[in-house]
Amino acid sequence: MKFLVWALVIYLVWRWFVALKKIAATKKNEFDEPDARSPDLSMPTASTAEPEKMVQCMQCGLHLPQSEAVTDGRSSYCSQSHLLLHQSR
Ligand SMILES: [Zn+2]
Repeated sequence: MKFLVWALVIYLVWRWFVALKKIAATKKNEFDEPDARSPDLSMPTASTAEPEKMVQCMQCGLHLPQSEAVTDGRSSYCSQSHLLLHQSR
C-alpha cells in the first residue's frame, strides 16, 4: 500500500514539473516575439488613456468632467444650485 502512495506522489511531482516546463516554454516564446504581442498591449492602454470630455459651468465658468456636471439638456453646470441660479435669471 505504501508503494501506491509513493507512486502517486512521484506521479504528481512529475506532472507539476512538466507543467512548470510548459509555462517556462510559453513565456520564452512570448519574449522571442515581442512584435507580435505589442499591438495587443497598446490597444487597451490607448482606450483607457482617453481623456474625459470637459464641460464648462454656464453660471461660474468652472471646467469639470462631463460625468460630474449637472445638465438641463442644453447647458452644463457645476452644481444643481448653479443650474437653478442660471435659470432664474
Ligand atoms: Zn458653477
